[in-house]
Amino acid sequence: MNTMIKNADILTMDDEFTILNNQVICIQDNKIVYIGEDEPFFFLPNRIINAKGKIVMPGLINSHTHCAMTLMRNRSNDLPLERWLSEGIFPVEANLTYNDVYSGAMLGITEMIKNGITSYLDMYYIHEASLEAISQTGIRANLSYGVSTSSKVKELGKQGAEEYCKNFVINNKKAFKGRVNTSIEVHSVYLVDEPELVLSAQMAKETDTLIHIHLHETETEVENCVKKYGLTPIQVCEKTGILSNKVTAAHTVHVNDDDMALLRDRKVIPVHNPSSNMLLGSGFADISKMIEMGITPALGTDGAASNNTLDMFKEMHLAALIHKGYKHNSSAIGAKQILKMATTNGSKALGFDDCGIIKKDMLADLIIVNTDSINMTPYHDPVSVLVYSARATDVDTVLVNGEILMQNRELTSIDEQKVKFEATRASKRLYGEK
Ligand SMILES: [Zn+2]
Repeated sequence: MNTMIKNADILTMDDEFTILNNQVICIQDNKIVYIGEDEPFFFLPNRIINAKGKIVMPGLINSHTHCAMTLMRNRSNDLPLERWLSEGIFPVEANLTYNDVYSGAMLGITEMIKNGITSYLDMYYIHEASLEAISQTGIRANLSYGVSTSSKVKELGKQGAEEYCKNFVINNKKAFKGRVNTSIEVHSVYLVDEPELVLSAQMAKETDTLIHIHLHETETEVENCVKKYGLTPIQVCEKTGILSNKVTAAHTVHVNDDDMALLRDRKVIPVHNPSSNMLLGSGFADISKMIEMGITPALGTDGAASNNTLDMFKEMHLAALIHKGYKHNSSAIGAKQILKMATTNGSKALGFDDCGIIKKDMLADLIIVNTDSINMTPYHDPVSVLVYSARATDVDTVLVNGEILMQNRELTSIDEQKVKFEATRASKRLYGEK
């Protein structure tokens, strides 16, 4: 399929933040094959999208979520992380079926596409159900799978044995025309015991797979870890070999200077989840300091149960504001850094090296954002507009891997009413309601 986008004002998200006006973008199958002022003679489009008056930019990348937790949206708010997990989440997750995870994943993916998110890093259970949803909807995702041989993760009964995990990670790399990537889940150092941390590190090395972990989320996590190991969680990761791999670490809220230096030296990609960290009362990750140190943080929503939406425009806006506020410094972090977190840094966090920038030969994961809404008028400076006044509902069109998943806000691969009906039914069953 050949797609041509005309009259495109492109926020490329390259290192120079180049903005190209009135361009033609040609997409052949899943790749961008041409960007220029004139229509190339060699390209015969099957379909043409007119982007006049709109911003064309890379799709937003949600670098940490638990997609199917949309079923638990607004069920356990106003609790700290430890009680939220043990009282609100784990008892419900114990009863999850394949159909629940499928319905929750369909709901989460639908919400993400409508909000301009083209790929996500997912830590959850019953992965085959998520794969089915990803296959049907056309979104891009990296699914994390964890080993469970001895610890609390196994008690929860949701992750697989070593061999199964390894097979899942290997067999699903580059599945669905490269839309799926895999990673090794290490939930956290408080749920995964030391032998499993070592095993996970070894498996990641053997399979050349990145590790996805929750790290330094709360003060309690750090205190308990120091009591148990005499080390901070990230030092435990260093000791057990986790950090010898590519690591994407959600939260990194309570990190001291030594922890931060280790994040930098081991090239860990921290994922900032401002809504979740505030909702659970966890605190503020010092993202501006990390950027100053040369760390490249990404941005995520976390699961809908601790947010309670999957909206990267909201996260970008919050991230841009809270650091200015708590540092008493209006230049603590800027719109350009926030956009990098949501696009180029996210592609590294997910292990998809060929998206996050609009450039020839990159994957065609892009969104087209309307600029004529009241909240964006009078329109100028796309960088500021996207972070400070755009809303997710301003996203008009979404392409993933060259396929149109939404055009003029109409979903092309999803029956939205059916998704809402089935997810509501699954959620009611989980909570014992009629
Ligand atoms: Zn999480």
